[in-house]
Amino acid sequence: MQLTPDVFLIGGGSFGFDMSSPYDCHVYAIRSGQELALIDVGTGLDNDSIISNMRQDHLDPGAVSQIFVTHYHADHAGGLAAWRDLTGARVHASVGSTPAITSGDAKAIGLEAAQRGGFYPTDYEFRACPVDVELAGGEPLPLGELTITAHNSPGHCHGHAVYHLTGGDRSYLFSGDCIFHGGTIILQNIPDCSIPDYAETMERLSTLQFDALLPGHLSITLRNGKRHVDTAVNAFRSLGLPRQAIQL
Ligand SMILES: [Zn+2]
Repeated sequence: MQLTPDVFLIGGGSFGFDMSSPYDCHVYAIRSGQELALIDVGTGLDNDSIISNMRQDHLDPGAVSQIFVTHYHADHAGGLAAWRDLTGARVHASVGSTPAITSGDAKAIGLEAAQRGGFYPTDYEFRACPVDVELAGGEPLPLGELTITAHNSPGHCHGHAVYHLTGGDRSYLFSGDCIFHGGTIILQNIPDCSIPDYAETMERLSTLQFDALLPGHLSITLRNGKRHVDTAVNAFRSLGLPRQAIQL
């Protein structure tokens, strides 16, 4: 589903538009010049649907050259190893999330807790994946004619990164599970979820300028996306908490 001249939505689950596995996050493709990049890849449970969605949009799955992952939770990163095998794409992840992705340790990626909570099938296994490019955060990288910059955004979990895409007809924030439509967030009862980190992250994001807010689940905003960050930052500043995006 083409969203803008540069960005396509090619997968997503039951907290989205049911385009692939019900467990998947939104999976985005960015087409820029000769480059084709993915932002998050879903669980890996239904790559066939993602591939067929790409073909419907006249995107060649084999041409994916770069993958950017927001965090190590299985709904976002579970398909990394399969996509890397399929395409040879270079996997980009934050320095903070790399150990968990490369080890695939079920506890470190929060899968153990999530399976206990009933979020994934009990037989689901996360395939560890090498990370080709570790991002410190703040370094602008060329992506065809566009520029993509990771920003560290811990809070939802350790090592979370959002991706700021600029240079096209509009600017974008791919926000993973950090900030959602309506200024909502996802706090979870897991050891690496942190309210103080979340509040600091939101202050940092409020300094970024962008038009479209493309989160990992739920509604998508193509203009005026910044207002959702403003809503969340105001809630934290008044010592409260933004609303939960998904009732757990
Ligand atoms: Zn998620």
